[in-house]
Amino acid sequence: MNVNKIDGQDIYFLESREWEILFTERKYKVFEFSGKILSILESKDYQVHKKFNEISMGLGFTISNFALPYVFYTPKMNEFQRVHLERRKCDNCGCQLIIANPNVLDIYSGVPSEIDKFELMRKANKFDEKECPLCKQKSFPSAIWITQSSLLISGDTHI
Ligand SMILES: [Zn+2]
Repeated sequence: MNVNKIDGQDIYFLESREWEILFTERKYKVFEFSGKILSILESKDYQVHKKFNEISMGLGFTISNFALPYVFYTPKMNEFQRVHLERRKCDNCGCQLIIANPNVLDIYSGVPSEIDKFELMRKANKFDEKECPLCKQKSFPSAIWITQSSLLISGDTHI
């Protein structure tokens, strides 16, 4: 496990083995997680993270000592942009995509109050808007990373 301070918050990057234990036991050390959060995390975010080096995943803690999972777009070493992974359909060609969206306020919870969350969100503007990998259209203004969801092996189309 690696600890990195990101946006003023300590983020714990677990090894694959530690994630697997967390998914099985539904807890990490003394912290427990709801089954619903974990099943979404395991079937979507964790699969993306395992397949793509530029998507990393960690645990962080809020002031009330509540553990939350976080996902980051990591275009190069030690550069971390918080993102929310979303399943979307391309408006142009209809293919199923997973996009990384930095403009979701929830993913900034746990950032110390003296740091401006909206500023962190605006920083993501430096990343170009990505195009659909199949038809090359730009359909999602907030997507800073996109992949086809068919590239992930799993039968988790319900999420
Ligand atoms: Zn498309």
